[in-house]
Amino acid sequence: MGRKLLLEKAHVEGIRYYDVYRREGGYRSVEKALKSMTPDEVTEEVKKSGLRGRGGAGFPTGMKWSFLAKPEGVPRYLVVNADESEPGTFKDRYLMEFIPHILIEGIITSSYALGANSAYIYIRGEYAWIPDILEQAIAEAKNNGWLGKNILGTGYSLEVYVQRGGGAYICGEETALIESLEGKRGNPRIKPPFPAVKGLWDCPTVVNNVETIAAVVPIINNGGDDYAKIGVGRSTGTKLMSACGNINKPGVYEIDMNISVEEFIFSDEYCGGIANGKRLKACIPGGSSVPILPANLLLKTAKGEQRMMHYEGLSDGGFATGSMMGSGGFIVLDEDQCIVKHTYTLARFYRHESCGQCSPCREGTGWMEKILWRLENGQGKLSDIDLLVDIQSKIEGNTICPLGDAAAWPVAAAIRHFRDEFEWHVNNPKECLQRNYGLAHYADPIHVPTPA
Ligand code: SF4
Repeated sequence: MGRKLLLEKAHVEGIRYYDVYRREGGYRSVEKALKSMTPDEVTEEVKKSGLRGRGGAGFPTGMKWSFLAKPEGVPRYLVVNADESEPGTFKDRYLMEFIPHILIEGIITSSYALGANSAYIYIRGEYAWIPDILEQAIAEAKNNGWLGKNILGTGYSLEVYVQRGGGAYICGEETALIESLEGKRGNPRIKPPFPAVKGLWDCPTVVNNVETIAAVVPIINNGGDDYAKIGVGRSTGTKLMSACGNINKPGVYEIDMNISVEEFIFSDEYCGGIANGKRLKACIPGGSSVPILPANLLLKTAKGEQRMMHYEGLSDGGFATGSMMGSGGFIVLDEDQCIVKHTYTLARFYRHESCGQCSPCREGTGWMEKILWRLENGQGKLSDIDLLVDIQSKIEGNTICPLGDAAAWPVAAAIRHFRDEFEWHVNNPKECLQRNYGLAHYADPIHVPTPA
């Protein structure tokens, strides 16, 4: 059983409420940081810990904090990115819903390190019931002297606000989130300038994911060195994984990243194996935008070594034979799943969520959706497969924000590893229609529903 840092108290009854959380040792990191550490010392511990951003990019958190501009007389902000919208990812929801005080505690300690007196939690609109939980936790923290003016008599003051998003996936991108927080349409900004220099209301801003900020609590409590001892290499500490799909035990797991993918999928401690006695076909290990891996490359790398659950392990082999940790959304597919249908569903999602600012993303996602739809419905041509590869290659790396890449990568990986399934759809149109619509016969021209 691996060490737990974030979910250690998750099963304590009433841990959602302040009294229980405090009784279980909550808010110690705030006491320690504010009473016995300077802001720079807190940042130094986070650097020592090796903590990497848990939202997807995996950028070192301490380094990100040290980029924050500190001009005299200009406010700084901490923004917590709780716009957890990546399909397959629901780990932050678990933290906010069941252990909200660990996030509030992490926000106070992190804001102190950054010199921020206001912090915002920007939460996705679909998590409609969670803002109330967070606001209650904020009120409890304030009533007990952890927020507001002159916290613990140290002279440090902080207010935390919750902002509900409007339901746009793109607002998980940090500059789109900032635009939305300012009350505007959530269009990503061209970088530079980066938010650390010009962020919320043009002031220096750090945007961090929920899990990242929560991890600051054990780092300050136990020290950065202790955190760095967990995991392996540059993948230090524990990682929350949300596991879903065709597994026996979907849920949120806190792992020491130094375990193998095989152990994570098949051991009873985690996913408990593939549901209904089926065989493992493929997996998207880091949320829907990272490359899919077929079972053989998922369990073993191209070098024949066990694939490990850490950042470097999941990306071993690059995109040719590897994938990414991403946001930790672990989606498992069994032998019955159709990769073409799955890829179409994702393409439809990304087309819908494209903000439309840049042509490769706006046009390319639409075309990929249309072509995948006709392939899925037995109306495609063999040349469509290479056309998809061509379109995705023109999106990748040519857009303002990472949504373009997020839309392109799943298509490229699906064709790279499952080209034979795409060809099967071209060569077996009747079976496609029967499978999708239950049609026993088809006429020419085929009349099937067209995409919205
Ligand atoms: Fe908008 Fe897509 Fe361009 Fe991102 S990549 S800015 S979502 S059009």
